[in-house]
Amino acid sequence: MTNATESLMQLNIKPAPCMVRGEGSYLWDEHGRRYVDFIQGWAVNCLGHDPPVLRQALAAQGVINPGAAFHNAPSRALARLLAEVSGLPRVFLSSSGAEANEGAVKLARKWGQLHRDGAFEVITTLDSFHGRTLAMSSATGKPGFADAFGPQVPGFTKVPYGDVVAVERALSPRTVAVMVEPIQGEAGAVVPPAGYLRALRALCDRAGVLLIADEIQTSMGRTGPMFAFLDEGIQPDIATVGKGLGGGLPVSAVLARREVACFALGDHGGTFAAHAFLCAGALAVVRTLLDVDRAGSAGALERVLRELAERHGLALRGRGHLWGLVLPTPRAEALRDRCFERGLLINAPRPNVLRLMPALNVGAEPLHELSQILGAALAEG
Ligand SMILES: *Cc1c(COP(=O)(O)O)cnc(C)c1O
Repeated sequence: MTNATESLMQLNIKPAPCMVRGEGSYLWDEHGRRYVDFIQGWAVNCLGHDPPVLRQALAAQGVINPGAAFHNAPSRALARLLAEVSGLPRVFLSSSGAEANEGAVKLARKWGQLHRDGAFEVITTLDSFHGRTLAMSSATGKPGFADAFGPQVPGFTKVPYGDVVAVERALSPRTVAVMVEPIQGEAGAVVPPAGYLRALRALCDRAGVLLIADEIQTSMGRTGPMFAFLDEGIQPDIATVGKGLGGGLPVSAVLARREVACFALGDHGGTFAAHAFLCAGALAVVRTLLDVDRAGSAGALERVLRELAERHGLALRGRGHLWGLVLPTPRAEALRDRCFERGLLINAPRPNVLRLMPALNVGAEPLHELSQILGAALAEG
């Protein structure tokens, strides 16, 4: 599948053709073959491929990078809009999800120095995914992940997902925060019991520790509301956003309550922080997202997936535009490859799980193609 003479480090197996063009739910390779895309850059292209609104916003943006030492208008407008939508008034803008989570944990540790006697430990969950930097690898609960580049960064304790009592047991005077995904994305769209976030919020309040929502994958309408925590009527102390925020551009953010946003001058930053060109794009994406009929297209997607799951005896889990189909046997990769051959892009995050994360405005035609191609692949056994 890959060319061994490549200069690029080979870090995942990719199909041979280069992808050269995208439009909405479709992607074309260099041979002119068309694919219907239910991966969308791993839940990144929330408006589909190359949405005109993003192209136009980028073309209209004046200076690409005045530099992080100077103000630029798009980053201020984007921060204001994110604060408004989330209810979390303080915003730091960065580029990747892992970088945003690093910022969140740094902020929590700083808060711990100031308000909790130097507490620094963050409780995370088994099977979670928080990114690939050294500290976020250590925070991640995906099996085998944290130890691969030992020694681990200290200060992370892991408990089973969806289990509030386990979090309560893991609390100690060293605990500064609890960090969870509202729905575990990379684990294959694992939905916790209803009320999980609400119960964690209450527990964190009682214990005097912070609640961090890693909404890198779940926010920006992916699971319904603009932030998944809004579904449970709670507010975390810190939330992180990435993936869909830039609609395909590398933009991420740390959002925090006013009392928690305790960074002093020089505590945090980045060469590409609040990047004008990227923020101009993200601003157009978020403004557009607020007007997209996500519920209508999510309903149509769910109907197609329920029908496939029932017909082929699969379990279905997820919400909005983030779904996992759980297979009775570990054949997700074979199915993914068979679908690719037939022009359908789906993801296999676990040996027995297929994940679907289409554009939030996915239309009837790509849904029909999903049903046909995946249905035929499943029927072949
Ligand atoms: C993808 C993801 C990350 C990491 O984002 P990168 O942009 O790849 O660094 C972190 N947390 C969650 C929940 C994610 O889905």
